[in-house]
Amino acid sequence: MEGTLRKGGKMKISVVENVLKANDAVAHENRRRLEAAGVRALNMMSAPGSGKTTLLHETIATLQNDLRFAVLVGDLQTTRDAERLGDLDAQVTQINTGRGCHLDATQVTQGLETLDLEGLDFLIIENVGNMVCPAGFDLGEHLRVILLSVPEGDDKVAKYPTLFRPADVILLTKVDLLGILDFDVSRVEEDLSHINTRAPLLRISSKTGEGMDAWLNWLRGQKVRS
Ligand code: MG
Ligand code: ZN
Repeated sequence: MEGTLRKGGKMKISVVENVLKANDAVAHENRRRLEAAGVRALNMMSAPGSGKTTLLHETIATLQNDLRFAVLVGDLQTTRDAERLGDLDAQVTQINTGRGCHLDATQVTQGLETLDLEGLDFLIIENVGNMVCPAGFDLGEHLRVILLSVPEGDDKVAKYPTLFRPADVILLTKVDLLGILDFDVSRVEEDLSHINTRAPLLRISSKTGEGMDAWLNWLRGQKVRS
């Protein structure tokens, strides 16, 4: 493929467009399949270490008596995150991307093959920790959940607008560290006011439990009504 890339970049651009078009077609099919089964799918994205797996564990542990969950966990290597979810009453499949720094729709199709969608309420896809390219790949999800943790800094919305613009909910995590670290929530709110006024910004801490009710209520409200 590399040999076809001409100077000037025209060919390169069409190659990238074709990859994204192919991904979109697979994502569309994933979404259709999930909808046929009455499953709501969430694509959870953030930088590494912002607390995705911890939040997932808390969320499912709290709701698993009322709602049925499955999880696809994307990581470059290791099955550690899937193992951390192993004590839950949920189907969990780890997808190792090797060197790939994001999940694509075909990997999600393969993940779906391992799951029984019957009776499922939610599929949560924990994307590879990365603030850049996961946002460019539709996986067939219905909702995008974006996490931003206090230790990452209050400048991230302005720096990574492609991640925050299509968000359906934004979770400011590790808020137990507000007041300890230099983080100005009003700066995040101001930056969001320019790119996304639709998504609620919820402040949560998996450690103290602060804000968990608001997040869990939001999630309950997304269940497909039958
Ligand atoms: Mg994780
Ligand atoms: Zn990537």
